[in-house]
Amino acid sequence: MSEVRHNWTKEEILEIYNRPMMELLYDAATIHRKQHDPNVVQVSTLLSIKTGGCSEDCGYCPQAARYHTGVEGNDLMTVNQVKAQALRAKEGGSSRVCMGAAWRNVKDGPEFDQVLEMVRGINKLDMEVCCTLGMVTENQAQRLAEAGLYAYNHNLDSSEEYYKEVISTRGYQDRLDTIDNVRKTNVTVCSGGIIGMGENVEDRAGMLVALSTLNPQPESTPINALVAVEGTPLEEEKPVSIWEMVRMVATTRIVLPETQVRLSAGRTQMSREGQAMCFFAGANSIFAGDKLLTTPNPDVNEDMKMFELLGMNPQKPFTKKVQPQSVEASDSKFESLGEKPKWTRPEHKIDRNEAAKAKGKLVK
Ligand code: SF4
Repeated sequence: MSEVRHNWTKEEILEIYNRPMMELLYDAATIHRKQHDPNVVQVSTLLSIKTGGCSEDCGYCPQAARYHTGVEGNDLMTVNQVKAQALRAKEGGSSRVCMGAAWRNVKDGPEFDQVLEMVRGINKLDMEVCCTLGMVTENQAQRLAEAGLYAYNHNLDSSEEYYKEVISTRGYQDRLDTIDNVRKTNVTVCSGGIIGMGENVEDRAGMLVALSTLNPQPESTPINALVAVEGTPLEEEKPVSIWEMVRMVATTRIVLPETQVRLSAGRTQMSREGQAMCFFAGANSIFAGDKLLTTPNPDVNEDMKMFELLGMNPQKPFTKKVQPQSVEASDSKFESLGEKPKWTRPEHKIDRNEAAKAKGKLVK
């Protein structure tokens, strides 16, 4: 029942998503218990190492420079700042630090070298290190792997069809190619998406087809509920209901049985009971820390109280895979190639993105 399949169809996934709730919960929880300890939750801390000023037009993102969202842009953090924050996250019960930079893609040069030092520094704290830096080439992925990266995050966001309604500056195939580049290394893949962007249930199923047919499937999959930020093209979207979230989590658990399914953005809108239902449905990871890049997130102490209440424990680092070795920059086998990859820019017109951009210009 819980073997990993790479041939899921949209129809099969829709049938699962639409099952009566109690059956869906039972099926998902049964698979969850076969593959994972149901009382263990992996805790990640998301750290924005370079905030705002992004050139892209992702309709959900307050960090896109073209929209007026009040997010202050920051330069890349220093290695010491990042190490200090990682240590704090470790003391707060996190086993993983995910460093996010508001970049379209990684560019070879001093800033990327600085990120590689951050990866080495956090790996030496015996924490899992993840990065989300935009598109990467194979060489860049190899250099991250060599520095001791544990996971690379690159979300598919939605179905290929609906992705075009949200983003015009990047193509879906570039996402898949980046995941492919990461797969050529020993770094694990983290990839998921967002619900509540105005997509329909078919799009949610379409995203799960894209994720589940990857071979191997991603080791972790964040399921985000849109946090509609004022000034972004999606500012008017209504929050998704907890029932939709539970259905999405349960369906993800069934089609990605071995994956760690992460409750990500939107947790502040969920009650403890709602989150408990998501854990029962197969979620076994959360993002901790009072901010998720730029949007609010529950306080760490609140999460620890919730775990205590539910009898759950944070997962120890390197439970699923051994700790990578960090190779020092001076011993690196992969030199910087100074590549200028041609990632696509479809630039088709998305009316609500154009409108938000025009409004942003007026406010500025
Ligand atoms: S999601 Fe990432 S790439 Fe898109 S605008 Fe935000 S920071 Fe830039």
